[in-house]
Amino acid sequence: MNTLTETLPLVEVRDVRHIYGKSSGSGLLVLDDVDLTLGENEIVGLLGRSGSGKSTLLRSIAGLIQPTSGQVNFPRADTRVSMVFQTFALFPWLTVLQNVEVGLEAQGVAAEERRQRALKAIDLIGLDGFESAYPKELSGGMRQRVGLARALVVDPDILLMDEPFSALDVLTAETLRTDLLDLWSEGRMPIKSILIVTHNIEEAVLMCDRILVFSSNPGRVVSEIRVTLPQPRNRQDPAFQALVD
Ligand code: ADP
Ligand code: MG
Repeated sequence: MNTLTETLPLVEVRDVRHIYGKSSGSGLLVLDDVDLTLGENEIVGLLGRSGSGKSTLLRSIAGLIQPTSGQVNFPRADTRVSMVFQTFALFPWLTVLQNVEVGLEAQGVAAEERRQRALKAIDLIGLDGFESAYPKELSGGMRQRVGLARALVVDPDILLMDEPFSALDVLTAETLRTDLLDLWSEGRMPIKSILIVTHNIEEAVLMCDRILVFSSNPGRVVSEIRVTLPQPRNRQDPAFQALVD
């Protein structure tokens, strides 16, 4: 990649507005004039109350919904975006391996390559040995690992995470979060940046380089907090340990 590309943001959200139920007349304005920029090599947090429109914004960036107005731009060519959902969104009738392969099927990747790439993602995320298990046989933390493997298998540039730990108990959430940060700081995940939605301030401070504070009614980015933690954010780093302990 040349230096010109590196200076381009990965995502630019400009003046995004979203109204639900517009056709019924009395629509609900959920997002109003939302602006944000996601650069390379950063973890950005979106911190806001329940119902403030965070999921709506993430779905707009993922292309799952079309905002009522405004733009979501990807200034670099061929930017791939993956999303991890709060309640995992796995297919219960598919095995772990099949759930992870789903993302590649949509891209038309051949069966054998799909299998190899899925196995690699499963191994990376710590689910080696559970390829043939079904979601109902797994704990919540393991199910979210499947969700992560499925997101990573397509080699995304951007990982969007919608409250990925909030359905998990505190200890499971902590383990998954630190495992994810280790993969990130060791450069073992093939992603350029992460946008993570949370309503947990501590989680945002521990994970993010920048935190965008989101207002409610309507949702809008109202301030930004820069987090200055030791870099790289490695668990072994004494300064990081002091913060976590
Ligand atoms: P958050 O993720 O911050 O909790 P959401 O984006 O899920 O917020 O929702 C914002 C608001 O939009 C809420 O009032 C919610 O009830 C409403 N909403 C979300 N999805 C829909 C939908 N598909 N149709 C109508 N209203 C919706
Ligand atoms: Mg939400």
